[in-house]
Amino acid sequence: MLSRITNIGKIVTWSPSEKKLVSLENQEILIEDGLIAEIGEKVGSAEVEFDAECALITPGFVDSHTHPIFFGNRGSEFGMRVAGKSYEDIAKAGGGIISSINGVRNATEDELYGFCKNHIDYFLDHGTTTIEAKSGYGLTLEDELKSLRVIKRLNENSELDIVPTFMGAHDFPVEFKRDPDLYIDIICDEMIPAVTSEKLAEYCDVFCENGYFTTDQSLRILETAKKFGLKPRLHADEFKDSGAASLAAKVDAVSADHLMAVSDSGINALAKSGVIATLLPGTTFFLGKNTYADGRKMIDVGCDVAIATDFNPGSCTLQSMPMVISLATLYCGLSMEEAFVGATFNGAKSINRENEIGAIQTGYKADMLFWDIESIDEIPYWLGSDRLLSVMKNGELIEED
Ligand SMILES: [Zn+2]
Repeated sequence: MLSRITNIGKIVTWSPSEKKLVSLENQEILIEDGLIAEIGEKVGSAEVEFDAECALITPGFVDSHTHPIFFGNRGSEFGMRVAGKSYEDIAKAGGGIISSINGVRNATEDELYGFCKNHIDYFLDHGTTTIEAKSGYGLTLEDELKSLRVIKRLNENSELDIVPTFMGAHDFPVEFKRDPDLYIDIICDEMIPAVTSEKLAEYCDVFCENGYFTTDQSLRILETAKKFGLKPRLHADEFKDSGAASLAAKVDAVSADHLMAVSDSGINALAKSGVIATLLPGTTFFLGKNTYADGRKMIDVGCDVAIATDFNPGSCTLQSMPMVISLATLYCGLSMEEAFVGATFNGAKSINRENEIGAIQTGYKADMLFWDIESIDEIPYWLGSDRLLSVMKNGELIEED
């Protein structure tokens, strides 16, 4: 089926061929079977017409780092935190991630699916058309498989595209705290083979950090994952520099994420090896800290920087990419253009989909946002209240519920 968008105010997108951000006026877009077939002053005729009413059009956002598979919420912990307890304090007291792990373990697959389905519409409401989604609150073979099966069902039953990541190495389950290497054996010998034989994930992620998974343990997990065809990505140097960014370069990870405490040598390793540096400023904000990642330095030494929400029930409940753009420009040293590219094209790159999403380009998916704004500067400017008119996914406007 052919459809055509006319009366477009402006198209703002990264241009993969020109390698720069472009702003196009007096253009129409022709869409065929969900893909952009033509962009030009006058495109061919179509069966369906969309009048953009002078809206500014951008690509849909790509949120390349989320943890949306959990059951129940931790709102009460927020109260504890604002009363003075740190995230680390709450974790030590037996709260934090453990309550999310128990939630996933005690829920049936259908219950987990029903709960997680609620989050999906919020991503779309804020203009996100693709997310990467991690397992990692099950931490047993069965509960990790259950989480990944839920991701698969969510992807099949919603308009949002969801790219699955296995993250059995999110934390050590309490039952293995005394023998962490035994848990690494289970990840490598049981979980990774089962996940890949059911084709439930595309990536493998590890929380590589002092007090969590060491660089040696992370290396073993990611090398095993690669043998089974999973591509590596890493939670790296969030609280302290533990050499995780350099490890990301060593294992050829597609992305190293967080990087609030990364060393200069770690940044150089990322730049040299082409690992995407993914910044998650919502987490720093939600934790009430001021240790934002230095995106300016990363870009200046040549890193490709993506930005994402890190949506999860403990350290960041943010699902809005416009808000992430606000935070990245205010606190990570990114220019407006760099943050916009980080939320679209570089996000797509970090999930190896830069040839199909993240830009408005012939041959790409017709995932587009229609805005009531004059320039992209207004995306972060209208703080927390997006001037988003409509969201188009695969060439069709998403109906509001
Ligand atoms: Zn994360």
